[in-house]
Amino acid sequence: MDKILRIDMGAAGGPAYRVEPLGAYAGLGGRAMTSAVVAAEVPPLCHPLGADNKFVIAPGMLSGSAAAMSGRISVGCKSPLTGGIKEANSGGQPAQMLGRLGYAAIVLEGKPADDTLYKIVITPAGVTITADNSLKMLGNYAVVEKMKAEFGDKVACISIGQAGEMKLSGASVAFTDMEQRPTRHAGRGGVGAVMGAKGVKVIVVDDAGLKLRSPADPEKFKEANKRFVEGLRKHPVTGQGLPAYGTNVLQNVINEAGGLPTHNFLWGRFEGCAKISGEALAELENKRGGEGSATHGCHRGCVIRCSGTFYDKDGAYVTKQPEYETVWAHGSNCGIDDLDAIAQLDRMDDDFGLDTIEMGATVAVAMEAGLAQFGDAQAAIRLVKEVGQGTALGRVLGSGAAVTGQVFGVERIPVVKRQAMPAYDPRAVQGMGVTYATSTMGADHTAGYSVTANILGVGGTVDPLKPAGQVELSRNLQIATAAVDSTGMCLFIAFAILDQADTFQALLDVINTFTGASLTGDDVTALGKKVLKLEREFNTRAGFTAKDDRLPEYFKKQPIAPHNVVFNVTDEELDQVFNF
Ligand code: SF4
Repeated sequence: MDKILRIDMGAAGGPAYRVEPLGAYAGLGGRAMTSAVVAAEVPPLCHPLGADNKFVIAPGMLSGSAAAMSGRISVGCKSPLTGGIKEANSGGQPAQMLGRLGYAAIVLEGKPADDTLYKIVITPAGVTITADNSLKMLGNYAVVEKMKAEFGDKVACISIGQAGEMKLSGASVAFTDMEQRPTRHAGRGGVGAVMGAKGVKVIVVDDAGLKLRSPADPEKFKEANKRFVEGLRKHPVTGQGLPAYGTNVLQNVINEAGGLPTHNFLWGRFEGCAKISGEALAELENKRGGEGSATHGCHRGCVIRCSGTFYDKDGAYVTKQPEYETVWAHGSNCGIDDLDAIAQLDRMDDDFGLDTIEMGATVAVAMEAGLAQFGDAQAAIRLVKEVGQGTALGRVLGSGAAVTGQVFGVERIPVVKRQAMPAYDPRAVQGMGVTYATSTMGADHTAGYSVTANILGVGGTVDPLKPAGQVELSRNLQIATAAVDSTGMCLFIAFAILDQADTFQALLDVINTFTGASLTGDDVTALGKKVLKLEREFNTRAGFTAKDDRLPEYFKKQPIAPHNVVFNVTDEELDQVFNF
């Protein structure tokens, strides 16, 4: 991976590309690459949908190799949702393929002069950029079908649905999975709207004939990778819980802990939880049989395999196995306890190209505003359909929870930096509250997953209901996460590397034997800090101050049942998260 593909979508005479050496970006991957490019090249005060914003796609450092778990991909830009820097990452096949094609990043720049829509095709022979208005206002599934018909069943696609074309702040970017379905999404922060603003509907990636990237030391790499995989398999979360039930294994766990936001963050437990839990989902999938009864990876090389496939009662494909965040967002948070309805909502989100967390939070805010009753699954489906249809109401909803709450006069809007909170109530899981408040990304569970020590007993224990230790916990996890996101490894490896020193060492050995570097644990920490500092500086230059590192005030005033606690980490403590 020794080159960057830059495409100027606003070039005179039509989009034009150039391939450049890595230069100052050499050695970077994933989030480290996207954040470095955005921080260096995007004016922080630019309009996110304007010509000066850049849309960056970067596979991880080891993507395209035989390293386990190495196929995540990062998308970066200035976010139209938060107004700050954004990195959203996804699974799917494109990371591995771009890695083999040798691209460390794709950067979309400028803006087309009119509303022509383009498709970009990247193959070993080069790059073509073609106007294709036949793709206008198609959903991601239809786009991928057209690309399959045109380019065959081996290519991977990176695409946007209707929401991205409409430049809605809840819009995601879809990446095709191993079955060539657009089920993997860089969901957060409206990254799909920025791709839409660049006039790009789909990027087709074809690595036909290319081999796996070669390690610097093949024998030692193979041995280190083996140890790494063994470590993942022996940890109870990565070796048993996630493979058996997928991420939705957390539904019962977080409900039991009293931290499952229900009815727009009104309560911490959902009475219908058992009906939509990971156990219930697995039972349903096993009953329906077929491909859905086995979990699988979201990309080749995943050995944890937390994903799966969801079929309806007649055995027809609906969507991927809905993830915990989706089941919570469209389920518990909206009072909906129907897995088939939740799967339908997931399918619509994927097809329209919407972030399921933002949309679930938005529908719950709309329910609080009286647009629908909590628990009314059909009403939730109607609301999301409005987004795909581009009605006036749909465009409001597709702009996210903050806009929707503002338009309909709702006080309780669970957002930070205008990005909706994920599936952990910050009063019952206070470490998550610290991460939500201070993350450079807006409310984001993956930015520093304090659920580990707060609830799961991974990497130590910190009382989830008390402020003590939460800032240090969140800080350390935010640093580690920024580093893991930069490797392109799935973040779920964190469970094993936090708990098992030999697995962390195996990960370092995998990286070092592949790249020829000699990274230590301290170097990894330094990388995480460097990425966070770049992102914080960008946000500061974009106008963010300490007041943006806060939760909405109702989390400090309204106790949540069953623990009847408020978020009680002080502002002074929050301001100590980035003290490095
Ligand atoms: S563990 Fe899950 S999210 Fe991570 S790479 Fe595997 S399937 Fe994807």
